[in-house]
Amino acid sequence: MSIPAPLRGCIADARWVSERTAARLPETPGSYVVLIRFGKRLALDMPGLGNPVFARGWYAYCGSAHGPGGVRARVSRHLRHEKRLRWHVDRLTVAASEVRAAAFQGLSECDLVGGLLAVEFTVPVPGFGSSDCATCPAHLLMWGRDGKGSGSGAAAPH
Ligand SMILES: [Zn+2]
Repeated sequence: MSIPAPLRGCIADARWVSERTAARLPETPGSYVVLIRFGKRLALDMPGLGNPVFARGWYAYCGSAHGPGGVRARVSRHLRHEKRLRWHVDRLTVAASEVRAAAFQGLSECDLVGGLLAVEFTVPVPGFGSSDCATCPAHLLMWGRDGKGSGSGAAAPH
């Protein structure tokens, strides 16, 4: 399944790559969004975050990479299904039906979170991925209220 057009529209100007096309990503430092699709409802064991249940649908994880290999190295790891589980997000990407990613220059991961929260993304698990961050409610977001978007392209009422 490819990324639904309304979801693509939420993150304009992103060039999405898969594991197969990850070599297109820059090897420079930067931020990124990983889109994760669950094909079915999942309960996942998340040390420190309990046992959150994830509805079927699309999620976005925002991060940044400043180490060797830059965004390409980090995101390539996120896109791989086979890996040692190190971060919470690894438990999502190995369970996902689909994983895509895009890199951004000149924006922090917190800028990306803010932008997505402004366009109908919500927080499924408070604190997920943001333990080092003083400003974001989480660095993992859910598309709409249920992983499927609002259908209107506008922020859903709370
Ligand atoms: Zn943040």
